[in-house]
Amino acid sequence: MRISTITNWAYGITVALTVLSGTAFILSARSAEQERRAVEEHLALDDLGEELALGAEERSDEARLYVMRGEERHLDAFRGREDEERRHEAAIRGVRALEASPAELAALEEIEAHAEALDKIESPAVAAYQAGDKAGAQSTLFGPAHERQQTALLEAVTRFRQLATARTGAALDAAKSRSDWFGIAAKTMLGFTAALFLGVLYFVLKRRVATPLTRMTGIVTRLARQDYAVEVPTDRRRDEIGEMNEAIQIFRDNGLERDRLDAERRRDQQTKDLILQMLHRLQACQAQAELAEVVSRFAPQIFPDLAGHLYVLNDSRTALSLAGTWLEPRHSAAAFESSACWALRRGRPHVSNRGQSDVVCQHLDEGEATGLCVPLTAQGDTVGLLYFEERAGDVPAIEASRLYLELIAENIGLALANLKLRERLTNLALRDALTGLLNRRSLDEALNRSGGEPLCLLMIDIDHFKRFNDEFGHDAGDVVMQYVAQIMVDAVETRGNVYRFGGEEFTVLLPGLSERAAVDFAERLRERIGSTPLTHRGRILGTVSVSIGVAEAPRHGPVPTLLTRADAALLEAKAGGRNRTVAASGIGAGVRLEG
Ligand code: GH3
Ligand code: MG
Ligand code: MG
Repeated sequence: MRISTITNWAYGITVALTVLSGTAFILSARSAEQERRAVEEHLALDDLGEELALGAEERSDEARLYVMRGEERHLDAFRGREDEERRHEAAIRGVRALEASPAELAALEEIEAHAEALDKIESPAVAAYQAGDKAGAQSTLFGPAHERQQTALLEAVTRFRQLATARTGAALDAAKSRSDWFGIAAKTMLGFTAALFLGVLYFVLKRRVATPLTRMTGIVTRLARQDYAVEVPTDRRRDEIGEMNEAIQIFRDNGLERDRLDAERRRDQQTKDLILQMLHRLQACQAQAELAEVVSRFAPQIFPDLAGHLYVLNDSRTALSLAGTWLEPRHSAAAFESSACWALRRGRPHVSNRGQSDVVCQHLDEGEATGLCVPLTAQGDTVGLLYFEERAGDVPAIEASRLYLELIAENIGLALANLKLRERLTNLALRDALTGLLNRRSLDEALNRSGGEPLCLLMIDIDHFKRFNDEFGHDAGDVVMQYVAQIMVDAVETRGNVYRFGGEEFTVLLPGLSERAAVDFAERLRERIGSTPLTHRGRILGTVSVSIGVAEAPRHGPVPTLLTRADAALLEAKAGGRNRTVAASGIGAGVRLEG
């Protein structure tokens, strides 16, 4: 119940009780008035009775004294008593007007009758005395008849007084007890009103105001310190305190919500900052391995609930291989064909989840995890795949971060494509398009880079190559060139590098080899080339031979002269009849190896 309702009720009851107790006081006062009137009436009747008795006695005494002494003053007094007698009669009529009982009235009439009878004895006796019959008058006034009449009168007066006393006494008692009752009722109600007023005041102040206010003060103080963890107890009262409690609850809920949004915004800002850092580093990457490292380091910081793989597509766009990995994803294969991924097939992100109705990528095992594949594309060209896997099963991390995941994939795709483009451009600048070998420019750079370490250079020229072109066509000539180049790459392996010097001339750099060892190697290479039968489009082209010039630095001359020295040796080999190896140090000394 609302406090205002309680106080309104209390006021209403207090006013009603006050009115009732006031009424009781008025009734009590009226009863006291009745009591007073009853007392007055009682006294008046008692006085009247007394006067009637005394008056009758005094009159008889005056009459007797007159007939005894003959003094005129007693006669006057006897006569004066007559006037008094009439006054008494008027008083008796007044008593009748009072609410006298019939018994009282009867007693009064009896008094009057006895007084009249006494007068009828006394008046003739006085007249007889005046006529001279002194003895007769005296015997009448002192005789037994007069005595009887007088006694009867006094008895009648006594009876009247008793009756009046009895009646007025009862009325007095009734008025007194009524007055007392109303007095007690009024005091009781007044006391009850005061108790109710104090009780309500206590209840309202202590139970409904002071206690909840003390509790709320504590809560508000904690809320002011932004401690929104404070519990606001539910207060179902529909009063002002209840409303205040509700307002505090709303304030606290708002605070909690604001805190949550702040934390979310901070987390989001942190994520954005990390993504930005990662994108800056991606743009600065110079190799695929660097790119994979950047992704592997930043992805787990940005999405701690997602494990993942970075795959790159091979040049023939048929298979994917692992370039980077983070937080140990368990369900996707390390390498697979591009057709095994629905995302790559459809060219858009694909979620695989065995619990759902959609198809699951074939590069995933039978596990229950949710995985997201995002194709890495740039200008419509697919270059790889970003794979994410939810770590804790109950966190829908993929859906929550989908936007950022796709944004990142887009940027990784662009960076990867840029790297590939850069690689292609570098290859174009440094390699020969027909054979894939490093070009003349690369050779110059390599020679410029080389320090003081021993280095051998082989200058190789295909013998009578023009004839191949002439006989089998330029295409066949190209194929022969590619064959020879491949044989040389296979033979050199990691020992050194093979360059296309120009036309049908090749150069091999062999670091750390002596001229002797290099000549041995050149011989083995020459034999290998010469013993490989060549075909083109089903036609047998036969075999080719090469002539080789070998030079060494720095033992037999400085690096800048390596090429000219080897070239001279090659010329020597050609001049000597081709299909042979000549060491530059041996020119003039006649050292020549022939096939
Ligand atoms: P020698 O034994 O003296 O080296 O005789 P050769 O015929 O090999 O030498 P020459 O310099 O007379 O001829 C080289 C020929 O190689 C000329 C050119 O048409 C041919 N050639 C150069 N580059 C290419 C190429 O990329 N493809 C083809 N098919 N032929 C090429
Ligand atoms: Mg040639
Ligand atoms: Mg040539």
